[in-house]
Amino acid sequence: MIIDCHGHYTTAPKALEDWRKLQIANLSTPELGPKAADLRISDDELRESIESNQLKLMRQRGSDLTIFSPRASFMAHHIGDFNTSSTWAGICNELCYRVSQLFPDHFVGAAMLPQSPGVDPATCIPEIERCVNDYGFVGINLNPDPSGGHWQEPPLTDRHWYPIYEKMVEYDLAAMIHVSTSCNACFHTTGAHYLNADTTAFMQCLSGDLFKDFPTLKFVIPHGGGAVPYHWGRFRGLAQELKKPVLQEHLLHNIFFDTCVYHQPGIDLLTRVIPIDNIVFASEMIGAVRGIDPTTGHHYDDTRRYVEAAAIDPEQRFKIYEGNARRVYPRLHAALQARGL
Ligand SMILES: [Zn+2]
Repeated sequence: MIIDCHGHYTTAPKALEDWRKLQIANLSTPELGPKAADLRISDDELRESIESNQLKLMRQRGSDLTIFSPRASFMAHHIGDFNTSSTWAGICNELCYRVSQLFPDHFVGAAMLPQSPGVDPATCIPEIERCVNDYGFVGINLNPDPSGGHWQEPPLTDRHWYPIYEKMVEYDLAAMIHVSTSCNACFHTTGAHYLNADTTAFMQCLSGDLFKDFPTLKFVIPHGGGAVPYHWGRFRGLAQELKKPVLQEHLLHNIFFDTCVYHQPGIDLLTRVIPIDNIVFASEMIGAVRGIDPTTGHHYDDTRRYVEAAAIDPEQRFKIYEGNARRVYPRLHAALQARGL
């Protein structure tokens, strides 16, 4: 089985975007709506939006199951207040849940959180509970910078975030550390802000001792870990200077990298530098980079091709495709086992 740990509902029917536009237009007069119930999208519309997009590509490329979360760039936690984010997260998560019900063999949910800049992350707990208990979600997307590129929250190692971590540990949930759209003109959303955040999250964890407090906490750092694998020597050296344990002990029981690196040399480097046990297959499809690489004739985000061509053995490939995801997402493993998989 090939589990893709990183997919977003980027192809949701346009009614969702229209709803959001109206919500933003009425930020100062929320009593004018829209209400969550004003969004009406039929099962047929959902089915069509998936079958002709993500599911079609999954079938073509040979992946089986996608951990599916709301469109990351649309989370836009910087817009409005907690109530804005709460209603928005609620409807986005519900759509991913409905997709997982329509295609139970191919999609399982991961939750967007109703984060808002400067607001206690504990306010996200009810949505996490709902997504796990009612929707069967297996992970969350945690935004380390709900300000959208201005980095106003404390680092991920700060106690500020502990209510989320306590809930993650209680529920055995992994968090993908995933920012949203950049509203800082210096940072292109997917080309700079995402990769900066991946690198930043890793360095925050390196300089702290978070996993002493939460030894079973699991973070997936997406987009191949940003700059981390490429600069592994720098991070090893910094850990040494900071008198931290070696990275394998300090961070690699808890941090995993996905394979959303859109060329062969990147995957070759990732699989050589990072222990195979810390790599989970992902494509972030359909997402940031949708084109075809003229040098290969294949889509950049067809990441299975790179993993197939990497110089690793079948057992290592199995870990990347499936084995590691079952460890990182224990609730997914349990759900699959319950279905005899
Ligand atoms: Zn993503």
